[in-house]
Amino acid sequence: MTVTRIGVLATTLSVACSGPADRADIPPARLDRGTHVVLLGTGNPNANPERSGPATAVVVDGHAYLVDAGPGIVRRAAAAATRYNLDALLARNLDIVFITHLHSDHTLGLPALIFSPWVLDRDVPLRVYGPPGIVDMTDHLEAAWRLDVRNRIDGLQPTNPDGYKVDVHEIAPGEVYADRRVRVTAIPVPHGSWDHAFGYRFDTADRRIVISGDATPAESLVEACNGCDLLVHEVYSEAGWQQRSPEWQRYHAYAHTSSVALGRLAAEARPGLLVLYHQLAMGSTPEEIEAEVRAGGYRGPIAYGNDLDVY
Ligand SMILES: [Zn+2]
Ligand SMILES: [Zn+2]
Repeated sequence: MTVTRIGVLATTLSVACSGPADRADIPPARLDRGTHVVLLGTGNPNANPERSGPATAVVVDGHAYLVDAGPGIVRRAAAAATRYNLDALLARNLDIVFITHLHSDHTLGLPALIFSPWVLDRDVPLRVYGPPGIVDMTDHLEAAWRLDVRNRIDGLQPTNPDGYKVDVHEIAPGEVYADRRVRVTAIPVPHGSWDHAFGYRFDTADRRIVISGDATPAESLVEACNGCDLLVHEVYSEAGWQQRSPEWQRYHAYAHTSSVALGRLAAEARPGLLVLYHQLAMGSTPEEIEAEVRAGGYRGPIAYGNDLDVY
Protein backbone atom coordinates (compact mmCIF):
# COMPACT_ATOMS: atom_id res chain seq x y z
CA MET A 1 0.00 0.00 0.00
CA THR A 2 1.26 3.44 -0.91
CA VAL A 3 0.70 5.99 1.81
CA THR A 4 0.98 9.66 1.08
CA ARG A 5 0.17 12.19 3.75
CA ILE A 6 -0.34 15.65 2.40
CA GLY A 7 -0.85 18.77 4.41
CA VAL A 8 -2.92 20.04 3.42
CA LEU A 9 -18.32 23.40 -9.17
CA ALA A 10 -25.84 27.50 -14.02
CA THR A 11 -27.52 24.13 -13.94
CA THR A 12 -27.22 22.77 -17.43
CA LEU A 13 -28.83 19.38 -17.02
CA SER A 14 -31.30 17.88 -14.64
CA VAL A 15 -32.46 14.31 -15.12
CA ALA A 16 -34.57 13.46 -12.14
CA CYS A 17 -35.43 9.81 -12.59
CA SER A 18 -38.21 8.01 -10.85
CA GLY A 19 -38.69 4.98 -13.04
CA PRO A 20 -36.60 2.39 -14.83
CA ALA A 21 -34.71 3.41 -17.91
CA ASP A 22 -32.38 1.68 -20.32
CA ARG A 23 -29.34 2.60 -22.33
CA ALA A 24 -31.50 3.99 -25.12
CA ASP A 25 -32.85 6.78 -22.92
CA ILE A 26 -29.75 8.92 -22.75
CA PRO A 27 -27.47 9.39 -25.78
CA PRO A 28 -23.90 8.35 -24.91
CA ALA A 29 -22.46 11.81 -25.43
CA ARG A 30 -24.85 13.51 -23.05
CA LEU A 31 -23.07 12.73 -19.80
CA ASP A 32 -19.63 12.09 -21.26
CA ARG A 33 -18.99 15.78 -21.89
CA GLY A 34 -18.90 18.55 -19.32
CA THR A 35 -19.64 18.18 -15.63
CA HIS A 36 -22.57 16.25 -14.17
CA VAL A 37 -23.47 15.02 -10.71
CA VAL A 38 -24.92 11.53 -10.37
CA LEU A 39 -26.43 10.69 -6.99
CA LEU A 40 -25.36 7.12 -6.32
CA GLY A 41 -26.69 7.01 -2.77
CA THR A 42 -28.89 9.52 -0.96
CA GLY A 43 -29.46 7.51 2.18
CA ASN A 44 -28.23 7.55 5.75
CA PRO A 45 -27.81 4.80 8.37
CA ASN A 46 -31.43 3.67 7.86
CA ALA A 47 -31.61 0.48 5.77
CA ASN A 48 -33.91 2.00 3.17
CA PRO A 49 -33.77 -0.17 0.02
CA GLU A 50 -34.68 2.86 -2.13
CA ARG A 51 -31.77 4.91 -0.81
CA SER A 52 -28.29 3.45 -0.92
CA GLY A 53 -25.61 4.71 1.46
CA PRO A 54 -24.20 8.19 0.88
CA ALA A 55 -22.19 8.34 -2.36
CA THR A 56 -22.05 10.93 -5.11
CA ALA A 57 -20.27 10.90 -8.46
CA VAL A 58 -19.01 14.11 -10.01
CA VAL A 59 -18.48 13.11 -13.64
CA VAL A 60 -16.18 15.43 -15.55
CA ASP A 61 -15.55 14.85 -19.25
CA GLY A 62 -16.22 11.16 -18.80
CA HIS A 63 -14.25 10.55 -15.62
CA ALA A 64 -15.92 9.89 -12.25
CA TYR A 65 -14.76 11.51 -9.01
CA LEU A 66 -16.59 9.88 -6.11
CA VAL A 67 -17.54 11.49 -2.83
CA ASP A 68 -18.08 9.04 0.01
CA ALA A 69 -18.48 5.28 -0.20
CA GLY A 70 -21.74 4.32 1.43
CA PRO A 71 -22.86 0.68 1.24
CA GLY A 72 -24.10 -0.20 -2.24
CA ILE A 73 -21.85 2.24 -4.09
CA VAL A 74 -20.42 -0.16 -6.68
CA ARG A 75 -23.81 -1.60 -7.61
CA ARG A 76 -25.48 1.83 -7.79
CA ALA A 77 -22.60 2.98 -9.99
CA ALA A 78 -23.20 -0.04 -12.24
CA ALA A 79 -26.91 0.86 -12.40
CA ALA A 80 -26.05 4.42 -13.41
CA ALA A 81 -23.52 3.21 -15.98
CA THR A 82 -26.24 1.15 -17.63
CA ARG A 83 -29.03 3.72 -17.32
CA TYR A 84 -26.97 6.57 -18.75
CA ASN A 85 -24.68 4.58 -21.04
CA LEU A 86 -21.83 6.07 -19.02
CA ASP A 87 -18.62 4.05 -18.98
CA ALA A 88 -17.14 6.35 -16.31
CA LEU A 89 -19.26 4.53 -13.73
CA LEU A 90 -18.36 0.98 -14.75
CA ALA A 91 -16.60 -0.72 -11.85
CA ARG A 92 -13.28 -0.96 -13.66
CA ASN A 93 -13.20 2.83 -14.07
CA LEU A 94 -13.87 3.76 -10.44
CA ASP A 95 -10.42 4.89 -9.34
CA ILE A 96 -10.73 7.91 -7.03
CA VAL A 97 -12.85 8.74 -3.98
CA PHE A 98 -12.99 11.63 -1.53
CA ILE A 99 -14.29 10.65 1.91
CA THR A 100 -16.09 13.33 3.95
CA HIS A 101 -15.73 11.69 7.37
CA LEU A 102 -15.36 8.27 8.87
CA HIS A 103 -18.94 7.50 9.97
CA SER A 104 -19.85 3.98 8.90
CA ASP A 105 -22.78 5.04 6.71
CA HIS A 106 -20.24 6.92 4.54
CA THR A 107 -17.53 4.27 4.48
CA LEU A 108 -19.11 0.80 4.59
CA GLY A 109 -18.81 0.66 0.80
CA LEU A 110 -15.08 1.37 0.88
CA PRO A 111 -13.98 -2.28 0.92
CA ALA A 112 -16.33 -2.88 -2.01
CA LEU A 113 -14.74 0.05 -3.83
CA ILE A 114 -11.26 -1.27 -3.13
CA PHE A 115 -11.72 -4.93 -4.01
CA SER A 116 -14.74 -5.41 -6.33
CA PRO A 117 -13.44 -3.25 -9.24
CA TRP A 118 -10.14 -5.14 -9.13
CA VAL A 119 -11.95 -8.40 -9.81
CA LEU A 120 -13.73 -6.53 -12.62
CA ASP A 121 -10.50 -5.50 -14.37
CA ARG A 122 -9.47 -2.25 -12.71
CA ASP A 123 -5.69 -2.43 -12.99
CA VAL A 124 -4.67 0.69 -11.05
CA PRO A 125 -4.80 1.34 -7.29
CA LEU A 126 -7.83 3.14 -5.86
CA ARG A 127 -6.89 6.68 -4.84
CA VAL A 128 -8.50 7.60 -1.52
CA TYR A 129 -8.54 11.08 0.00
CA GLY A 130 -9.99 11.56 3.47
CA PRO A 131 -9.61 12.88 7.00
CA PRO A 132 -7.01 11.70 9.51
CA GLY A 133 -7.87 8.10 10.32
CA ILE A 134 -8.42 7.10 6.69
CA VAL A 135 -4.94 5.52 6.51
CA ASP A 136 -5.69 3.40 9.55
CA MET A 137 -9.03 2.38 8.04
CA THR A 138 -7.61 1.35 4.67
CA ASP A 139 -4.69 -0.48 6.35
CA HIS A 140 -7.20 -2.56 8.31
CA LEU A 141 -9.34 -3.21 5.23
CA GLU A 142 -6.29 -4.42 3.33
CA ALA A 143 -5.44 -6.74 6.23
CA ALA A 144 -9.00 -7.98 6.52
CA TRP A 145 -9.13 -9.15 2.90
CA ARG A 146 -5.52 -10.35 2.66
CA LEU A 147 -6.49 -14.00 2.24
CA ASP A 148 -8.88 -13.11 -0.57
CA VAL A 149 -6.16 -11.15 -2.38
CA ARG A 150 -3.63 -13.99 -2.00
CA ASN A 151 -6.17 -16.54 -3.14
CA ARG A 152 -6.95 -14.64 -6.34
CA ILE A 153 -3.33 -13.74 -7.15
CA ASP A 154 -1.88 -17.19 -6.37
CA GLY A 155 -4.72 -19.18 -7.92
CA LEU A 156 -5.89 -19.72 -11.46
CA GLN A 157 -8.05 -16.62 -11.60
CA PRO A 158 -6.90 -14.16 -14.28
CA THR A 159 -5.96 -11.04 -12.38
CA ASN A 160 -3.64 -8.04 -12.29
CA PRO A 161 -1.06 -7.07 -9.66
CA ASP A 162 -2.16 -3.52 -8.73
CA GLY A 163 -5.92 -3.13 -8.88
CA TYR A 164 -6.58 -4.10 -5.26
CA LYS A 165 -4.10 -1.57 -3.86
CA VAL A 166 -4.89 1.72 -2.21
CA ASP A 167 -3.09 5.03 -2.69
CA VAL A 168 -4.33 6.85 0.39
CA HIS A 169 -3.98 10.50 1.32
CA GLU A 170 -4.85 12.08 4.66
CA ILE A 171 -5.95 15.64 3.97
CA ALA A 172 -6.33 18.99 5.65
CA PRO A 173 -8.59 21.89 4.59
CA GLY A 174 -7.74 23.53 1.27
CA GLU A 175 -7.02 22.25 -2.21
CA VAL A 176 -6.39 18.53 -1.98
CA TYR A 177 -6.39 17.40 -5.59
CA ALA A 178 -6.10 18.81 -9.08
CA ASP A 179 -5.77 17.46 -12.59
CA ARG A 180 -6.57 18.77 -16.07
CA ARG A 181 -10.32 18.29 -15.48
CA VAL A 182 -10.91 19.41 -11.91
CA ARG A 183 -9.71 21.11 -8.77
CA VAL A 184 -10.99 19.65 -5.50
CA THR A 185 -11.06 21.66 -2.28
CA ALA A 186 -11.74 20.17 1.16
CA ILE A 187 -14.02 22.37 3.26
CA PRO A 188 -13.89 21.88 7.03
CA VAL A 189 -17.38 21.40 8.48
CA PRO A 190 -18.67 20.89 12.03
CA HIS A 191 -20.23 17.45 12.47
CA GLY A 192 -20.96 16.47 16.05
CA SER A 193 -17.92 15.27 17.94
CA TRP A 194 -15.74 14.49 14.90
CA ASP A 195 -12.38 16.27 14.97
CA HIS A 196 -12.22 16.20 11.18
CA ALA A 197 -15.14 16.30 8.77
CA PHE A 198 -15.17 17.80 5.28
CA GLY A 199 -17.42 18.96 2.53
CA TYR A 200 -15.88 19.18 -0.96
CA ARG A 201 -15.94 21.75 -3.74
CA PHE A 202 -15.31 20.72 -7.34
CA ASP A 203 -14.23 23.43 -9.77
CA THR A 204 -14.30 22.41 -13.41
CA ALA A 205 -14.26 24.26 -16.71
CA ASP A 206 -18.05 24.60 -16.72
CA ARG A 207 -19.32 24.26 -13.15
CA ARG A 208 -18.70 24.82 -9.46
CA ILE A 209 -20.22 22.14 -7.25
CA VAL A 210 -20.30 21.93 -3.44
CA ILE A 211 -21.18 18.75 -1.54
CA SER A 212 -21.79 19.14 2.19
CA GLY A 213 -21.11 15.71 3.62
CA ASP A 214 -22.63 15.59 7.11
CA ALA A 215 -22.62 18.94 8.87
CA THR A 216 -24.40 21.35 11.11
CA PRO A 217 -25.07 24.66 9.35
CA ALA A 218 -21.61 25.74 8.21
CA GLU A 219 -20.47 29.20 7.22
CA SER A 220 -17.59 27.46 5.47
CA LEU A 221 -20.06 25.85 3.04
CA VAL A 222 -21.77 29.20 2.42
CA GLU A 223 -18.40 30.72 1.54
CA ALA A 224 -17.36 27.75 -0.57
CA CYS A 225 -20.61 27.93 -2.57
CA ASN A 226 -21.14 31.69 -2.85
CA GLY A 227 -23.30 31.46 -5.95
CA CYS A 228 -22.03 28.03 -7.00
CA ASP A 229 -23.92 26.10 -9.67
CA LEU A 230 -24.94 23.23 -7.46
CA LEU A 231 -25.11 22.78 -3.68
CA VAL A 232 -25.77 19.19 -2.62
CA HIS A 233 -26.64 19.36 1.06
CA GLU A 234 -27.78 17.03 3.83
CA VAL A 235 -31.00 17.81 5.75
CA TYR A 236 -33.37 16.61 8.45
CA SER A 237 -37.01 17.56 8.76
CA GLU A 238 -37.72 20.25 11.33
CA ALA A 239 -41.26 18.92 11.96
CA GLY A 240 -40.04 15.32 12.13
CA TRP A 241 -37.29 16.31 14.55
CA GLN A 242 -39.86 17.79 16.92
CA GLN A 243 -41.42 14.34 17.23
CA ARG A 244 -38.15 12.65 18.24
CA SER A 245 -37.04 11.86 21.80
CA PRO A 246 -35.01 14.54 23.63
CA GLU A 247 -31.88 12.38 23.25
CA TRP A 248 -32.26 12.12 19.48
CA GLN A 249 -33.21 15.80 19.20
CA ARG A 250 -30.00 16.71 20.97
CA TYR A 251 -27.92 14.49 18.70
CA HIS A 252 -29.42 15.65 15.43
CA ALA A 253 -29.14 19.32 16.37
CA TYR A 254 -25.51 18.66 17.33
CA ALA A 255 -24.57 16.83 14.14
CA HIS A 256 -26.88 17.74 11.26
CA THR A 257 -28.74 20.58 9.50
CA SER A 258 -32.48 21.10 9.87
CA SER A 259 -34.63 21.95 6.87
CA VAL A 260 -35.33 25.45 8.17
CA ALA A 261 -31.66 26.09 8.93
CA LEU A 262 -30.78 24.82 5.45
CA GLY A 263 -33.20 27.36 4.00
CA ARG A 264 -31.34 30.13 5.81
CA LEU A 265 -27.98 28.74 4.70
CA ALA A 266 -29.01 28.34 1.05
CA ALA A 267 -30.43 31.87 0.96
CA GLU A 268 -26.93 33.08 1.84
CA ALA A 269 -25.06 30.60 -0.37
CA ARG A 270 -27.24 31.37 -3.47
CA PRO A 271 -26.68 28.14 -5.41
CA GLY A 272 -28.04 27.81 -8.93
CA LEU A 273 -29.73 24.66 -7.65
CA LEU A 274 -30.03 23.23 -4.14
CA VAL A 275 -30.17 19.42 -4.10
CA LEU A 276 -31.23 17.70 -0.88
CA TYR A 277 -29.57 14.38 -0.05
CA HIS A 278 -28.88 12.29 3.06
CA GLN A 279 -32.43 13.25 3.99
CA LEU A 280 -33.49 12.34 7.49
CA ALA A 281 -37.18 12.66 6.72
CA MET A 282 -38.42 11.43 10.11
CA GLY A 283 -41.88 10.87 8.70
CA SER A 284 -42.17 14.07 6.67
CA THR A 285 -42.85 14.00 2.93
CA PRO A 286 -40.51 15.53 0.32
CA GLU A 287 -43.08 18.30 -0.24
CA GLU A 288 -43.21 19.07 3.49
CA ILE A 289 -39.41 19.18 3.76
CA GLU A 290 -39.17 21.49 0.75
CA ALA A 291 -41.76 23.76 2.39
CA GLU A 292 -39.65 23.80 5.55
CA VAL A 293 -36.59 24.82 3.52
CA ARG A 294 -38.68 27.62 1.99
CA ALA A 295 -39.71 28.68 5.50
CA GLY A 296 -36.02 29.23 6.20
CA GLY A 297 -35.96 31.92 3.52
CA TYR A 298 -34.54 30.17 0.43
CA ARG A 299 -36.32 31.20 -2.80
CA GLY A 300 -34.08 29.57 -5.42
CA PRO A 301 -34.43 26.28 -7.32
CA ILE A 302 -34.58 23.15 -5.18
CA ALA A 303 -34.58 19.41 -5.87
CA TYR A 304 -35.29 16.51 -3.53
CA GLY A 305 -32.58 14.08 -4.56
CA ASN A 306 -33.18 10.40 -5.21
CA ASP A 307 -30.71 7.65 -6.05
CA LEU A 308 -29.55 7.78 -9.68
CA ASP A 309 -30.78 11.33 -10.27
CA VAL A 310 -28.47 13.42 -12.44
CA TYR A 311 -27.94 17.15 -12.09
ZN1 LIG B 1 -24.25 10.29 7.50
ZN1 LIG C 1 -21.92 11.49 9.88
